[in-house]
Amino acid sequence: MELKAIGVLMTYPMSSYLEQELDKRFNLFRLWNLPQKNDFFKENSGSIRAVVGNTKVGADRELIDSLPALEIVSSFSVGLDKVDLAHCKEKGIRVTNTPDVLTEDVADLAIGLILATLRGICECDRYVRGGLWKKGDFKLTTKFSGKKVGIIGLGRIGTAIAKRAEAFNCPISYYSRSQKPESNYKYFPSVVELASDCDILVVACALTEETRHIINRQVIDALGPKGFLINIGRGPHIDEPELVSALIERRIAGAGLDVFENEPHVPEELFGLDNVVLVPHIGSDTVETVKAMADLVVGNLEAHFSEKPLLTPVFID
Ligand code: NAP
Repeated sequence: MELKAIGVLMTYPMSSYLEQELDKRFNLFRLWNLPQKNDFFKENSGSIRAVVGNTKVGADRELIDSLPALEIVSSFSVGLDKVDLAHCKEKGIRVTNTPDVLTEDVADLAIGLILATLRGICECDRYVRGGLWKKGDFKLTTKFSGKKVGIIGLGRIGTAIAKRAEAFNCPISYYSRSQKPESNYKYFPSVVELASDCDILVVACALTEETRHIINRQVIDALGPKGFLINIGRGPHIDEPELVSALIERRIAGAGLDVFENEPHVPEELFGLDNVVLVPHIGSDTVETVKAMADLVVGNLEAHFSEKPLLTPVFID
């Protein structure tokens, strides 16, 4: 089978290296570049056999149903909340993602956000640049080493965060769908109990209907005025208006956020607050990891179209 004849639809500009590698091998279409989407689908939908999506635009029911020849969705992400998995399964469409290669970067960023939030690193930077140091020393901040860290979702990334926090002498506890008998960390059967018992609550679970707004007012109140919240999962894990008011009213001590409910829109009430660190969904965005993710996407498509086993299938056929 000549790969060049295979239509691959990329949904969003996610990596120029990935675009180049897909262009070399397949007949690549860029969804964001199409002037007349309806005409494009009329002309080309029959030849598109693969979709490459990401955390912004994946493969929803409408896109899947508009591509009658679709065989595989290869997501440039580990999280699959933008892919209609049930519909793919029903239609026999295969799905791949990019696990493992991004775990270290996301865990590193979680620790970076903890340090930046507790030690006020971003505010300190603004303090020095603004010439305020000459007028007086910076206020005292909060110690990280030894603090109790609670993790929601002890999967690949959650475990990597736990390992790093252990090096800071932090006692680790967690909440997941299932208890992990192989880990020595303390398990809590509910998020509220976990939040009541930790100083820093880190969200690292998958986004599903069950975990949407897993951080609600009750959890925020359980975390309390000395507690910090870190989110490197997905924005909709948190009821954002509840978090904003808790931060304004100092009902929690602070938050470090990589992800937001309505990206790239961030609640403007957060911009003036000194107890929050905001970064633009960069968990896996390093040169090294983005290349590794792109290679996995291409490798999965090549495997599929040459009838070899997929490298990282999401479900078994
Ligand atoms: P993973 O190994 O599949 O871990 C997912 C974890 O979520 C598991 O511990 C799982 O619990 C837990 N979980 C799923 N449903 C749950 C529920 N209903 N209640 C409680 N816990 C639940 O995935 P991963 O590689 O660690 O990635 C985790 C997530 O991180 C991704 O889904 C993605 O959304 C996010 N992520 C963010 C970035 C970023 O740039 N910020 C980058 C990569 C990934 P069990 O183990 O008990 O099943």
